[in-house]
Amino acid sequence: MNIFATIEEVRAACRAAKREGKRLGLVPTMGALHDGHLSLVRAARASCDVVAASIFVNPAQFGPNEDLAKYPRSFERDCAQLEKEKVDLLFAPAVEEVYPPGAVTWVTVEELSEKLDGRSRPGHFRGVTTVVAKLFHIIEPDAAFFGQKDAAQVAIVRRMARDLNLPVEIVVCPIVREADGLAMSSRNAYLDPRQRMQALVLHRSLMRAQSLFDQGERNAAKLIAAAREEFAAENLARLDYFEIVNPDTLDPVEDVSDGALVAVAAGIGTTRLIDNILLVNSGH
Ligand code: AMP
Repeated sequence: MNIFATIEEVRAACRAAKREGKRLGLVPTMGALHDGHLSLVRAARASCDVVAASIFVNPAQFGPNEDLAKYPRSFERDCAQLEKEKVDLLFAPAVEEVYPPGAVTWVTVEELSEKLDGRSRPGHFRGVTTVVAKLFHIIEPDAAFFGQKDAAQVAIVRRMARDLNLPVEIVVCPIVREADGLAMSSRNAYLDPRQRMQALVLHRSLMRAQSLFDQGERNAAKLIAAAREEFAAENLARLDYFEIVNPDTLDPVEDVSDGALVAVAAGIGTTRLIDNILLVNSGH
């Protein structure tokens, strides 16, 4: 695996691959890799000739009181894992490489960026879309791989690619979970054993909504009320939102149909966790 810290070098390597007619896949990450990230790498490996990954803890997507300084970093271990998955190129730039001094240009997907996590994390999605647009321009991938774990991010990145006519296929991979249902996340490392138990309430609330949906309930308010009961019983988890929305517009739906996105965010101690499911009709 070739590791690049500069835009000039990684761009030259990516262009060389593309000149040979290779299909280039990109997996953008913030490092502290787990099986969720590796599932994206495997999907890229299965459908692309050359796989590029990036590790960049993007300051622009963290709010002033968020966890930028303490975000977990494990570069050596990450490199070993990517190497094992046969990643060809890793782009791991410093902040100054990505944001030239005095940079004042942003990519914003309006409206969508104010919904779900965007409501509680002002500026977060502007940071995400700006860095993803930069990565797309630097790497020029044919396909880019994202996790369904960040469902709002998926809707927003898709919309950006469409609105800006970017020549990249956005591929979305399913959420990878721990055996007990907790969605894998780099931030799970912040949880102490008691909080790790409490964190299961996110998945449990989603399963509650799914099971009522399976029993035929289609009223969003009723599904949400039932899911919220799970949080009422877990007094150390602070619910941020529990919403049922259209997965493309992120607008709430009242009558729930197949394919609706059920999304939850909650604080456990100082850790903010998110999770979601897409409702599927199991045939009842
Ligand atoms: P991050 O490093 O948290 O920015 O995540 C990088 C990519 O990995 C994003 O596209 C995430 O949606 C994806 N990802 C993170 N956790 C998971 C998971 N548990 N399952 C699937 N994809 C994930």
